[in-house]
Amino acid sequence: MQTQKTVIVVGAGPAGLMAAEAICAAGHKVEVYDAKPSACRKFLLAGVGGMNITHSEPYDDFIQRYYDKAQWLDSAVSQFNADALRQWIHGLGIETFVGSSGRVFPADMKAAPLLRNWLKRLREAGVLFHMKHRLINLDQHSLEFENGDCKTVVQADAIVLAMGGASWPKLGSDGAWQKILSAVGVFSHPLQSANCGFYSQWSEHLQQQYAGSPLKNIGFCFTTSQGQQIQRKGECILSRDGMEGSLIYAFSKYLRDAINQTGQAKLLIDLLPNHTEQQILKKLQLKRDKDSFSKYLKRSVGLSGVKAAMLYECCNKEQLHNPQSLAASIKALPVSFHKVNPIEEAISSAGGVCQSSVDKHLMLTVLPGIFCAGEMLDWEAPTGGYLLTACFATGRLAAQGVCHYLQSTSNIPVQSLI
Ligand SMILES: Cc1cc2nc3c(=O)[nH]c(=O)nc-3n(C[C@H](O)[C@H](O)[C@H](O)COP(=O)(O)OP(=O)(O)OC[C@H]3O[C@@H](n4cnc5c(N)ncnc54)[C@H](O)[C@@H]3O)c2cc1C
Repeated sequence: MQTQKTVIVVGAGPAGLMAAEAICAAGHKVEVYDAKPSACRKFLLAGVGGMNITHSEPYDDFIQRYYDKAQWLDSAVSQFNADALRQWIHGLGIETFVGSSGRVFPADMKAAPLLRNWLKRLREAGVLFHMKHRLINLDQHSLEFENGDCKTVVQADAIVLAMGGASWPKLGSDGAWQKILSAVGVFSHPLQSANCGFYSQWSEHLQQQYAGSPLKNIGFCFTTSQGQQIQRKGECILSRDGMEGSLIYAFSKYLRDAINQTGQAKLLIDLLPNHTEQQILKKLQLKRDKDSFSKYLKRSVGLSGVKAAMLYECCNKEQLHNPQSLAASIKALPVSFHKVNPIEEAISSAGGVCQSSVDKHLMLTVLPGIFCAGEMLDWEAPTGGYLLTACFATGRLAAQGVCHYLQSTSNIPVQSLI
């Protein structure tokens, strides 16, 4: 019979708690440490606007949402996919439903009831929690935590690190682990904003009159440096100095990569995505009468308010007064962005512990016995439930790795492993 081992999980977010649950279920003693006074603060915030926990689209499409890391994450997500995650949620006494967009939500759209039931189940299973303990140092089998003025060193047979990315740092995940891990030779890519807004330079007039206005029912088109065209419809918000909101978040990886490479990113905005350029041109060619230009624009193609203001902002006089070029601009209005919004305001982060730093079970190759999970790994995904699914799934995979590691080392004294 295998003897009980002690496993420490650092980070009480969804990834850490999922790892804790699976390791505890395998019969090991699990202690969870977190810098904050309570668990899953970001998860709870995600529940405020309607918690989107996963997505119901076919798996082959689902896994592609992790961009160039799809193949890597497949080993985790294929074992704990959207259906498995939904079953797990149902096991916590929480029903789920699929929204019209295919996104999956808990029945009441909230995170708190799910978290309450989960924490209760974890405590009943014997998982111990040490809150207000910030990890400040580590080596292969010991961890140093700061708790107020006290410093404590604790030892473990295996460790799971699940300290998140660096968005919304006031909720706990501030990316400070990058220094700790780099000091012990773990290679990470710098954390950057993902699912975030972008800066542009609007005129005084646009800023004063339209900052905060929603741009509804629009389309974006972005051409990657490899010539691939990415197109999507949705809505976003014109901010004082750029754009925010779901549609621009969906393009954030492409725009960020372009800004990193060339210093700017260009998007084409389709102001009337449900009409073809020909249909728009036909309407623009109808008699203008003595209407002012704005009345003519509204009467002919229904453009007014912030959408019309975007046309004035991004077109010159000749373009506006020639029906052909006006129709073309309405379908493909070029907007440039020069800077990514700060990571503190982003929904998630890109970058983190590199694939090359971990083995197939997410164990750090330079520190055997220490595993990583969740957003602190180097992957990113758009919103739509893909973020949480990968956090849960990598938590599960790291837990499997821990159990495998503990079994393979169970006859070897810890000292000789160090
Ligand atoms: C506003 C908002 C809305 C979101 N909505 C959704 C959504 O609807 N669907 C979706 O899929 N995703 C959503 N997300 C993203 C999702 O919440 C995160 O991807 C997910 O919480 C990451 O989980 P994690 O366990 O990897 O890290 P985290 O949830 O960030 O947890 C990491 C934990 O580690 C702790 N920690 C960090 N450093 C230390 C340290 N040095 N010592 C000890 N503890 C430490 C932190 O206190 C924290 O508790 C949203 C995010 C935000 C900000």
